[in-house]
Amino acid sequence: MNHAIHYSIIASDLAAHLFEITLTVAEPDPAGQVLCLPAWIPGSYMIREFARNIVQIRADCNGKKVALKKSDKHSWHAAPVTGALVVRYQIYAWDLSVRAAHLDQTHGFFNGSSVFLAARGHEAAAHVVDIVKPAEPACKAWRVATALPELKAKRYGFGTYIAASYDELIDHPVEYGAFALATFTAHGVPHDIVITGQVPNLDMARLQADLKKVCEAQIALFEPRSKRAPMERYLFMTLAVGDGYGGLEHRASTALICARADLPVKGRSEQSDGYRTFLGLCSHEYFHTWNVKRIKPAAFAPYALAAETHTPLLWLFEGFTSYYDDLMLVRSGVIDEPAYFKLLGKTINNVMRGSGRSKQSVAESSFDAWTKYYRQDENAPNAIVSYYTKGSLVALTLDLTIRAETAGKKSLDDVMRALWQRFGRDFYKANGGRGVTEQEVDALFDEVSGLNLRRLLDRAVRGTTDLPLKEVLAPFGVAFAPASVDTAAGLGVRTTRDGNDCKLANVYEKGVAHKAGLSAGDVLIALDGLRIQAANLNDLLHRYRAGDTVTLHAFRRDELMTFTARLALDDAPQVTLTTLEKPPALRKARNAWLGK
Ligand code: ZN
Repeated sequence: MNHAIHYSIIASDLAAHLFEITLTVAEPDPAGQVLCLPAWIPGSYMIREFARNIVQIRADCNGKKVALKKSDKHSWHAAPVTGALVVRYQIYAWDLSVRAAHLDQTHGFFNGSSVFLAARGHEAAAHVVDIVKPAEPACKAWRVATALPELKAKRYGFGTYIAASYDELIDHPVEYGAFALATFTAHGVPHDIVITGQVPNLDMARLQADLKKVCEAQIALFEPRSKRAPMERYLFMTLAVGDGYGGLEHRASTALICARADLPVKGRSEQSDGYRTFLGLCSHEYFHTWNVKRIKPAAFAPYALAAETHTPLLWLFEGFTSYYDDLMLVRSGVIDEPAYFKLLGKTINNVMRGSGRSKQSVAESSFDAWTKYYRQDENAPNAIVSYYTKGSLVALTLDLTIRAETAGKKSLDDVMRALWQRFGRDFYKANGGRGVTEQEVDALFDEVSGLNLRRLLDRAVRGTTDLPLKEVLAPFGVAFAPASVDTAAGLGVRTTRDGNDCKLANVYEKGVAHKAGLSAGDVLIALDGLRIQAANLNDLLHRYRAGDTVTLHAFRRDELMTFTARLALDDAPQVTLTTLEKPPALRKARNAWLGK
């Protein structure tokens, strides 16, 4: 343990949101130890420059000050020393998301990538962390939730934890506070659910029962015979807030943020849309335990966290995970078939809404995630496609094609299992750990299915024409029907509320507003002389029909402008999916797909 890298972390000032970290490098690099913090966190493909939150940093050796020279935005070079190098620094933790660190009187949360400087050259050593109980009275009842193995700590207690490497250390976020906790087992493996934040009458038992079904279904998907989970324990850490949504996957845990209203209430058995959304989020992050935390794109094995790391494969790692998240809910029985097709219809409508889908493929969207998908502006629907939503429809198309063309003998499940067996299962084992390339993924589809799927893959993944969804759904008794939305004219925009004002968030290409000359950011003032407010645009439009010409007034910045618009029907018709019960072969095929 002598060569281990040692940290201690303490919440030193809750009100100022400061963590105090002490890093000890027992045997620093004789040429001078380099220390650095990641620029991004795996799973969230954007440069975040976590080192900007370091407030003060100093180093010493045997009680003597050691010079630290900053060499770039996230690296420091310590002068050569003989003896242990001790580095002390403070982190400002006030990012209420799953991606960084957050600290106040209600709880503390951190990702290692936000708080633990890496000691270059020592990344493969054991990393030991003392999580010290804060002295402030507010923390008296606090406990610790992390999937990091305990070295000298009781489970859920403050104390010493250990990781086998820096990579492992930063893949185990830590939550502490006076949280609600429940434990269940899924195929023998303990799973904890931790909920921080005030949630009156939380129905933890229901959450536990539903998550158990979802987790067991996923374990059985990847290991149908042994039902062996890839981790020794798993932790769902959840922060419940007034309004929020997000999740980040890790190898043995996930950090989630959800709206309090989405969590189930004791004594109420109905299933709200919000609760389905939360279950979908849990299912999504859990699926990543296999798909991206162990089966990885070659570019992420290992992660290079100093700069952008491009891969054309996020459609597989995020898109397929998005396909399976809801699918596993219906297969495990926690949602019913109508709920599943409502969610699928929503995804289809989402993808069809933007003309960006005819300009960018999901492979391109994956590669450019750093500058486009993660940095969307008002023109995003006209310029890009989501590798999440369209990626999930790519998965649907491939799954149903394989099922139909092999008469149900093979499916996408077989492809996922092959990926798991070849690239995922041994990833963290000694001499394991190789990512998968685009070419290997392409070849695997044909090998596993026995079909020739190259043309379909090229079209779906590297092309921009619409997917043949109607055709692939038909053999499963699922038909498209126009949604029963009103047939009144639309403007071809998405609006947001700006106080009481109605502001254009997106102007869809070739829509009514675009043709009339309106722009995203314009504030609509009047329609034919009647005042437009955030709440009444649709009511005003409802009195018109396609083909009518109207006058629109809008502010662009502070200048009043007048536009003449010829109204039209919304050019992206919404669909709903309907299911057919006859002939019985359709029902049978659908049952096999949905796991009934
Ligand atoms: Zn994801």
